[in-house]
Amino acid sequence: MLKAFELTDKTVQEQLATSGLKEKVACRKGCSACCEQPELPILNAEIETIGDHIKNRIGRELRRKILKKVERQKPSSMACPFLIDKACSIYAVRPLACRTFHMVGLQCRPGENILNTRFEDMVMLDSQKMNEALWPMVALIEENVEKMDKQDSKYLELAGFITSQNTPLSQMDWDGFLKYYMGKK
Ligand code: SF4
Repeated sequence: MLKAFELTDKTVQEQLATSGLKEKVACRKGCSACCEQPELPILNAEIETIGDHIKNRIGRELRRKILKKVERQKPSSMACPFLIDKACSIYAVRPLACRTFHMVGLQCRPGENILNTRFEDMVMLDSQKMNEALWPMVALIEENVEKMDKQDSKYLELAGFITSQNTPLSQMDWDGFLKYYMGKK
């Protein structure tokens, strides 16, 4: 998963640079409107990586804050529980959906649903290139992935299958997350 995150970031940066949009991206540290109602799809493999990160790779104080926030997460809430003090508390392992979302022009306003207000300002990435960056995940279910043509229908089918295994944030079983990954009863 971490390798897929790394390749996705690299692909996103390359596309922003070659399209000339890099300088126009409005997203900044501290701007968190999109995390307050993201309804983002979280892949099953991402949840596992996030759970491992919180359990084993961050300090006790931040872990305490995250767990408290997750415990208080209301069912069907669309706000992301990993947003703490207006910053992503799991930035290194944030989902692919967060890594690939960028707006140009203005920063999002609190509560703004950009799908209704400024869909045209959302950066559209090349889906073929984004699929190619998923090969470390495809490798988990297809051992010959290195030899595969990433535009081949079989590869695309596998990449599509991986990304279809997701749960929208508002439907996440946060109690299950706490029990399964954090050992909470
Ligand atoms: S995981 Fe991080 S970047 Fe993604 S919505 Fe949550 S707080 Fe925002």
